[in-house]
Amino acid sequence: MATYNVTGVRKALSDDFTHRHIEGVCTDDHAHHALMTVVASIKAGDTWISKAGGYEKTIKVVSKCPQPGCKASPYIETSPWSLRKDNLEHLDLC
Ligand SMILES: [Zn+2]
Repeated sequence: MATYNVTGVRKALSDDFTHRHIEGVCTDDHAHHALMTVVASIKAGDTWISKAGGYEKTIKVVSKCPQPGCKASPYIETSPWSLRKDNLEHLDLC
Protein backbone atom coordinates (compact mmCIF):
# COMPACT_ATOMS: atom_id res chain seq x y z
CA MET A 1 0.00 0.00 0.00
CA ALA A 2 1.27 3.43 -0.92
CA THR A 3 1.48 6.60 1.18
CA TYR A 4 1.00 10.01 -0.40
CA ASN A 5 1.97 13.35 1.13
CA VAL A 6 -0.49 16.09 0.25
CA THR A 7 0.88 19.64 0.30
CA GLY A 8 -1.82 21.58 -1.54
CA VAL A 9 -5.39 21.50 -2.76
CA ARG A 10 -7.08 22.56 -5.96
CA LYS A 11 -10.60 23.96 -5.72
CA ALA A 12 -13.53 24.38 -8.06
CA LEU A 13 -16.71 26.45 -7.84
CA SER A 14 -19.67 24.45 -6.52
CA ASP A 15 -22.65 23.71 -8.76
CA ASP A 16 -24.74 26.36 -6.95
CA PHE A 17 -21.89 28.94 -7.13
CA THR A 18 -21.95 29.51 -3.33
CA HIS A 19 -18.45 28.25 -2.47
CA ARG A 20 -15.31 26.66 -3.76
CA HIS A 21 -14.63 23.08 -2.72
CA ILE A 22 -11.84 20.58 -3.24
CA GLU A 23 -11.66 19.04 -6.71
CA GLY A 24 -8.20 17.57 -6.25
CA VAL A 25 -4.97 17.63 -4.28
CA CYS A 26 -1.28 18.06 -5.04
CA THR A 27 1.39 15.83 -3.56
CA ASP A 28 4.96 16.67 -2.59
CA ASP A 29 6.16 15.52 -6.02
CA HIS A 30 3.98 18.31 -7.51
CA ALA A 31 1.58 15.86 -9.12
CA HIS A 32 -2.13 16.69 -9.21
CA HIS A 33 -4.63 13.99 -8.24
CA ALA A 34 -8.36 14.41 -8.87
CA LEU A 35 -10.73 14.04 -5.90
CA MET A 36 -12.22 10.80 -7.24
CA THR A 37 -8.72 9.34 -7.70
CA VAL A 38 -7.88 10.10 -4.06
CA VAL A 39 -11.20 8.63 -2.85
CA ALA A 40 -10.64 5.42 -4.82
CA SER A 41 -7.07 5.14 -3.57
CA ILE A 42 -8.07 5.57 0.10
CA LYS A 43 -10.85 3.01 -0.30
CA ALA A 44 -8.30 0.63 -1.80
CA GLY A 45 -6.16 0.96 1.33
CA ASP A 46 -3.61 3.64 0.44
CA THR A 47 -2.78 6.35 2.98
CA TRP A 48 -3.04 10.04 2.11
CA ILE A 49 -1.58 12.48 4.63
CA SER A 50 -1.89 16.25 4.52
CA LYS A 51 1.31 17.98 5.57
CA ALA A 52 1.13 21.75 5.94
CA GLY A 53 1.86 24.38 8.56
CA GLY A 54 3.52 21.81 10.81
CA TYR A 55 0.41 19.63 10.91
CA GLU A 56 0.14 16.07 9.68
CA LYS A 57 -3.37 14.68 9.33
CA THR A 58 -4.66 11.52 7.71
CA ILE A 59 -7.19 12.31 5.00
CA LYS A 60 -10.55 10.56 5.36
CA VAL A 61 -13.30 9.89 2.85
CA VAL A 62 -16.63 11.38 3.91
CA SER A 63 -20.07 11.22 2.34
CA LYS A 64 -20.26 14.83 1.18
CA CYS A 65 -18.81 18.34 1.12
CA PRO A 66 -19.45 20.02 4.53
CA GLN A 67 -21.04 23.15 3.07
CA PRO A 68 -24.82 23.21 3.69
CA GLY A 69 -26.82 22.07 0.69
CA CYS A 70 -23.80 20.98 -1.33
CA LYS A 71 -24.25 17.69 -3.15
CA ALA A 72 -20.58 17.05 -3.95
CA SER A 73 -20.11 13.44 -2.91
CA PRO A 74 -18.04 11.63 -1.87
CA TYR A 75 -15.61 14.15 -0.43
CA ILE A 76 -12.39 14.20 1.60
CA GLU A 77 -11.48 15.94 4.85
CA THR A 78 -9.08 16.10 7.78
CA SER A 79 -10.39 18.48 10.49
CA PRO A 80 -13.25 20.21 8.66
CA TRP A 81 -14.01 22.87 11.31
CA SER A 82 -10.45 23.93 12.07
CA LEU A 83 -9.30 27.37 10.97
CA ARG A 84 -5.69 26.18 10.68
CA LYS A 85 -3.80 24.06 8.20
CA ASP A 86 -4.81 20.85 9.97
CA ASN A 87 -7.97 21.43 7.92
CA LEU A 88 -7.49 20.18 4.37
CA GLU A 89 -9.64 23.09 3.15
CA HIS A 90 -6.95 25.54 4.30
CA LEU A 91 -3.95 24.10 2.50
CA ASP A 92 -2.28 26.36 -0.04
CA LEU A 93 -3.81 26.21 -3.48
CA CYS A 94 -1.87 24.33 -6.12
ZN1 LIG B 1 -19.23 21.84 -1.74
